[in-house]
Amino acid sequence: MLARSRRVKGIVTRLPVSSGIVNRYVPGEATAQAVEATRELVDAGLHVTLDFLGEDTLDEAQAEATVAAYVDLLEQLSEAGLSRNAEASVKLSAIGQALPDIGPKLAIENARRICRAARHAGTTVTLDMEDHTTTDLTLAALRELRKDFPETGAVVQAYLYRTEQDCRALAHEGSRVRLCKGAYNEPEEVAYQDRHDVDKSYVRCLKVLMAGEGYPMVATHDPRLVKIASALATRHGRMPGTYEFQMLYGIRGEEQTRLAELGEKVRVYVPYGDEWYGYLMRRLAERPSNLTFFLRSLVSQK
Ligand SMILES: Cc1cc2nc3c(=O)[nH]c(=O)nc-3n(C[C@H](O)[C@H](O)[C@H](O)COP(=O)(O)OP(=O)(O)OC[C@H]3O[C@@H](n4cnc5c(N)ncnc54)[C@H](O)[C@@H]3O)c2cc1C
Repeated sequence: MLARSRRVKGIVTRLPVSSGIVNRYVPGEATAQAVEATRELVDAGLHVTLDFLGEDTLDEAQAEATVAAYVDLLEQLSEAGLSRNAEASVKLSAIGQALPDIGPKLAIENARRICRAARHAGTTVTLDMEDHTTTDLTLAALRELRKDFPETGAVVQAYLYRTEQDCRALAHEGSRVRLCKGAYNEPEEVAYQDRHDVDKSYVRCLKVLMAGEGYPMVATHDPRLVKIASALATRHGRMPGTYEFQMLYGIRGEEQTRLAELGEKVRVYVPYGDEWYGYLMRRLAERPSNLTFFLRSLVSQK
């Protein structure tokens, strides 16, 4: 509701990204700031995946600008000597998937250009997963891209009923799969509504991925799920580096370094760019205490 209010959007988007509310989750709008944040994380023993913020574009020029931003980012990461430890996360809706008629094909072509730039830089791309109306399209795009770029990562969302089945299909050799709970407001026709049911689904999916031949990327801040993932990795004889943990920039930073110090591979998802509104709203919606903090800061800024 908050995210859809025009008034709130008007007030919030006038905030500078440097305000504490925004840059807790987004290190900056410029590529240079994203590269700088990457360097700090890599120096702290972490890996990174970068998301140039933007989604749901219906404008071909905007999609093209997003592709150019990723290509530029990958070049800059490579020049900075960071591309071995940093990859790119891409939303297909940001590169044209929702455009009428040509969308799905255009998004694959655009993603292919980003994959090519990533390979040139010596790194990979992961396709973020968006709302359930795009799941089939995104998995179809993944299959297409993997023909030329088998290293391309997938994302699945434990809140969808279908996901355990999708995990079975994706748990094959060389397949990088990020498992998250899911961040969109989904109806009960397609998704578990109770968070305990989502957690149970997450564990079932984890079991499939850890037992499989692929490369599980365990994306959660939930301490119980992190423990269960470690135990499952041990049970299946997986060494750190044959799977990884992933968390968002600005969330449980101490846990990120604690896991890395234990020898785990940990990757931080770093969003950047000026289209931070939708991303910020999803993060705030995840925790009522964040929302209180946010509303208080908003009042004190006015
Ligand atoms: C690397 C990564 C990539 C992701 N990619 C996608 C994607 O492609 N598609 C998609 O739909 N979703 C994606 N997500 C988001 C995900 O689906 C969840 O919405 C989000 O991670 C919160 O779920 P959780 O597993 O952390 O568990 P939760 O039950 O939400 O949280 C567990 C605990 O983590 C901490 N925590 C969680 N969120 C916050 C927060 N915002 N602020 C402060 N503390 C918090 C709290 O301590 C909380 O008790 C991604 C998440 C990560 C970590």
